[in-house]
Amino acid sequence: MMAAMSPTVLRGKLRHNEPMARHTSWRVGGPAGTFYEAADLDDLVMFLQQLPPDEPLFWLGLGSNVLVRDGGIPGTVIATAGALMDLVKVNESTVRAGAGVACNKVARYCANLNLVGGEFLAGIPGTVGGALAMNAGAFGGETWRLVKRVETVDRRGVRRWHEPAEFQVAYREVQGPTGEWFIAAELLLQPGDGAAGLARVKELLERRNQTQPIGLPSCGSVFRNPPGDHAARLIESCGLKGLCRGGACVSTKHANFIINTGNATAAEIEALIDHVAETVKRTHGISLRREVHAVGAAAKEEARR
Ligand SMILES: Cc1cc2nc3c(=O)[nH]c(=O)nc-3n(C[C@H](O)[C@H](O)[C@H](O)COP(=O)(O)OP(=O)(O)OC[C@H]3O[C@@H](n4cnc5c(N)ncnc54)[C@H](O)[C@@H]3O)c2cc1C
Repeated sequence: MMAAMSPTVLRGKLRHNEPMARHTSWRVGGPAGTFYEAADLDDLVMFLQQLPPDEPLFWLGLGSNVLVRDGGIPGTVIATAGALMDLVKVNESTVRAGAGVACNKVARYCANLNLVGGEFLAGIPGTVGGALAMNAGAFGGETWRLVKRVETVDRRGVRRWHEPAEFQVAYREVQGPTGEWFIAAELLLQPGDGAAGLARVKELLERRNQTQPIGLPSCGSVFRNPPGDHAARLIESCGLKGLCRGGACVSTKHANFIINTGNATAAEIEALIDHVAETVKRTHGISLRREVHAVGAAAKEEARR
């Protein structure tokens, strides 16, 4: 069995000590012990099957909602972007999208088929897998409202289909079967005027670009909005816009964004996140919850600036 699954037959790209700063939208993060970009789904399954059973695994989409700490990620990072790229029409209202497909590509694909409901995905700069893990949403749309079923894989390479009812889905939060990761989703859309839907979202995106620091290294909104309020309003009202820790600064354009101005470390970003949360708690009595997922180990003391 093992001989047939020997790493020599793998067709993906295997790297060691890969700097995660290359793979996150904040442009920070220490090295991944091992970084694997599978050639396709069969190759990914084979890779998983030959991993030691206790190897720590972290799945990465486009890294647009992760803060990888400066000490990096011990174990193996599985990169889906570029790997799980199938995007096909299953029937007149259903599209199957691989976990590695960029959300805006799905939005355009559906619109070209004159299927509507997925246009908001054009506003999510991540993959389908990341959108499923986060229940990403924009402009009133939310990923899991489209999900007909999802396909997952576990660390032994076993693939399964699941219905939405098997997941607890909330605002930017999804819990499901443990030890399984998304490899694809079937999305249910409605027939309609695709071009009109996309044009409307393009307009919304243009408007959003006026109020958010798009184009600068960030992870989008750092905190979830608390019920009935906006994290950005609370942060701004504490006078925190423009506050910096090293190279990490609270955006002057949108207070719920933290920008890497060029040479920030993950430790500086995380220190600023903690300071913002503490200040809002002290001032307003509201505990902001992080939307961004912080992963990995802090840098060793001597490596810190
Ligand atoms: C400028 C900017 C604007 C943004 N605007 C929005 C917005 O409007 N709405 C919104 O919701 N988000 C927004 N985001 C945040 C982010 O784009 C979304 O959360 C997105 O869904 C993350 O996708 P990703 O592929 O980059 O995931 P990653 O950041 O790579 O991963 C995020 C989490 O998902 C997990 N994950 C990734 N792939 C899989 C998989 N296949 N199976 C299981 N788990 C997986 C990771 O382990 C991690 O825990 C924005 C980010 C930026 C930088």
